Amino acid sequence: MSIAENIARIREEMAKAAITAGRNPDDIRLCAATKMNDSQAVRAAIAAGVDACGENRVQELVQKRSENAYEGAPVHFIGYLQTNKVKQVVGQVDLIQSVDSLRLLQAIQTEAVRQGICQDILLEVNIGQEESKSGFSAGEILPLVEQFSSFPNIRLRGLMAIPPISQNSGDNCKFFQKMYNLSVDITAKKSDNVCVDILSIGMSDDFADAIACGSTMVRIGTAIFGQRHYT
Ligand SMILES: *Cc1c(COP(=O)(O)O)cnc(C)c1O
Repeated sequence: MSIAENIARIREEMAKAAITAGRNPDDIRLCAATKMNDSQAVRAAIAAGVDACGENRVQELVQKRSENAYEGAPVHFIGYLQTNKVKQVVGQVDLIQSVDSLRLLQAIQTEAVRQGICQDILLEVNIGQEESKSGFSAGEILPLVEQFSSFPNIRLRGLMAIPPISQNSGDNCKFFQKMYNLSVDITAKKSDNVCVDILSIGMSDDFADAIACGSTMVRIGTAIFGQRHYT
């Protein structure tokens, strides 16, 4: 199957899941998780109409940008971001989805001030409370959002999560439901630089469940590009 055929099939499955849940398919964005795929593959995904490209590593972001790979689509950062690399990401991407610590928020704020910009971000939630994953605990989110005016150069657009690897389909619904509830709670908080309209949950194996639970953005790699070859 080509990248375009994969994307067409995913769009159909996304629409089906949305309609089944009584939702408008237009309310769910498709972000291509492009890690380990080259500029040619990224261009094919953009030509086939993905809404955004999500990159995991700063090095890949810089490389593919230098090859004009992202022309025609917004770029998001979705991987672990070290504070010493914020200069290469802030102002270079439309959305940083993976903001996982207070330290990182402060580093983004400082860099955004230096550049004179406002950076859109999502807070990453460690929704499965896994040792191996970064992110805020669910309980930390509301207090943080209430203090968001202390980051005037950051605009909070919503939440992102990577739930635990599931064995059976449907396993992650409870985590997606928690994420949805959390996003409803923070939407109710009115603050100048909080404008919550994105709930980024759902990957290749579970995006239909995520859409059933209220996802507004799915991040899909394998189902678009095929298996990644780690070497
Ligand atoms: C790789 C990745 C994805 C996509 O995973 P697939 O299972 O290949 O669809 C989504 N989100 C993040 C943060 C990723 O690193």
